[in-house]
Amino acid sequence: MSRRPVCPDCTAPAAAGRVVHADSCPLLADLERTTAADAAWFRQSGRSQRRRPTTASERTEQTLLRPASKPDQEVTLIRQGRGRYVRRFLPSGMADLLAVSGE
Ligand SMILES: [Zn+2]
Repeated sequence: MSRRPVCPDCTAPAAAGRVVHADSCPLLADLERTTAADAAWFRQSGRSQRRRPTTASERTEQTLLRPASKPDQEVTLIRQGRGRYVRRFLPSGMADLLAVSGE
């Protein structure tokens, strides 16, 4: 049986394409700070698309979910509505939908 990658902060295993971090996980807290900063940027700018470098925590999360691939260097966020964003990572092209409460 191969060893599954685990979060370096809370040791939660990656399974079925996601990592369920402990509530107290510092990596999770950093990912949430980034999401909150993105939401604030959209609120302040009034724009619907943001492109920025990936954060260290986003790259760590990708290494957990896709251990065979290099983590992505850039992310494009497209606001679809209140608290709803599409995230598209480059260069992999991997995309997901992000919901942010409180926006
Ligand atoms: Zn964690």
